[in-house]
Amino acid sequence: MSTQTATLSELAILGGPKTVTLPEGDMFTWPILTPEDEAAVVDVLRTRNMSGTDITQKFEAEFAEWMGVKHALGFNNGTSSLLAAMFGVGIGHGDEIICPSITYWASALPVYSLGGTVVFADIDPLTLCLDPADIERHITPRTKAIVVVHYLGYPADMDAIMAIANKHGLKVIEDVSHAQGGLYKGRKVGSIGHVSGYSLMCGKSLAIGEGGMLTTNDQEIYDRAVAFGHYERYSESIPTVSLRASAGLPLGGFKNRMHQMSSAMGRVQLRSYDKRCAEIRKALNYFWDQLEGVPGLVAHRVDESTGSNMAGWYGGHGIYRSEELGGLSVTQFCRAVSAEGALGVGTGCNKALHTHPAFNEADIYHQGKPTRIANSTRDLRQPIGSLPVSERIGHEVYFIPWFKHFRPEVIDEYAAAFRKVAENAGELRADDPGDPPNLGGWNFFRSVK
Ligand SMILES: *Cc1c(COP(=O)(O)O)cnc(C)c1O
Repeated sequence: MSTQTATLSELAILGGPKTVTLPEGDMFTWPILTPEDEAAVVDVLRTRNMSGTDITQKFEAEFAEWMGVKHALGFNNGTSSLLAAMFGVGIGHGDEIICPSITYWASALPVYSLGGTVVFADIDPLTLCLDPADIERHITPRTKAIVVVHYLGYPADMDAIMAIANKHGLKVIEDVSHAQGGLYKGRKVGSIGHVSGYSLMCGKSLAIGEGGMLTTNDQEIYDRAVAFGHYERYSESIPTVSLRASAGLPLGGFKNRMHQMSSAMGRVQLRSYDKRCAEIRKALNYFWDQLEGVPGLVAHRVDESTGSNMAGWYGGHGIYRSEELGGLSVTQFCRAVSAEGALGVGTGCNKALHTHPAFNEADIYHQGKPTRIANSTRDLRQPIGSLPVSERIGHEVYFIPWFKHFRPEVIDEYAAAFRKVAENAGELRADDPGDPPNLGGWNFFRSVK
């Protein structure tokens, strides 16, 4: 190490000591498993009850009660719950949904299976959720629904979105895959729109193995979701009379039943879930409180005094203000924080879906045209430049560590690492390689310990 470096801030990336020294222990281990989870899952195995629905129906009843909604329906994964939600609200051939471009693909792509298509709207650069001000310009006579994602745990602006939907007679589908149990102004996210889909796969905040859930207060939407992919429950006594004639076979040709090892684990997980999320929120709010006013760093979090919260803080991110750090790239920033010994720090988020070939060129069903526009009367594809916030957002966000426990001594070290790098950003600019052009990922899934 040169003497010149030593007299500077001693950033670890320049040879100084690491800021994070305490062992992480089980700080990042998720889901938390107890002998109760193990016993519930092993019982399903021993009774060879994997393909039944009795445990799943108990899980559904408990989930509906927890959510304060009339109906919950279990699925084999979150993707199929969203497809069934789309079918549930009546989306069919040539219909359009509006969806944020920054989300996991399953918020939008399943619409192709119904002969429908998607128009993407931009996100708000601070909430990272659908920008209500960018919805109305995308509405056409063919628009049927708005898909809202409570992205990375942040509750989307539901008052504004519901007002637009009601004005135009549109359905609202909430994708709650990042925000199970979260609140928007005192109301559970997932109970505000017409229907909601939830991923419960093992990387998510409510993690039950592989699984999904659909909730709604609307009997007909629920019945349509049953008819679509739950043939064993689709009988001639289904309350929605128009569905009775085809009872017995799944209308979608799909089979969506939840694996009962998952539903058994889900029942156990749900009992501790709110308590565990409250501790996660305490930890992450404490982390961000330490960083208030640090240049370049803005929390991606909601003000809890409004009655809203960040649920289980799935995939937590910060907003990055490079201009406050003399133009330091987020890539170099994250490298330097990681070098301080901080785990779970990195660049990017989901990459703008409207720029992917699946939404531009792919002719999936051999219609001689890109599937995106094959059933449309106009070319609704969206070129680069059309959704500027979504296109640049990868350069303006970074992952923060997903603490599962409130351990101030550990969190203090992490916050100190972020602060140290931000306050000494000037020393890093000389070797800044800059950001690669394509920050973020299409299929973003961070493996968890
Ligand atoms: C994970 C995820 C899904 C899909 O859920 P699976 O259970 O993986 O099928 C849908 N939407 C969002 C926003 C997700 O993150």
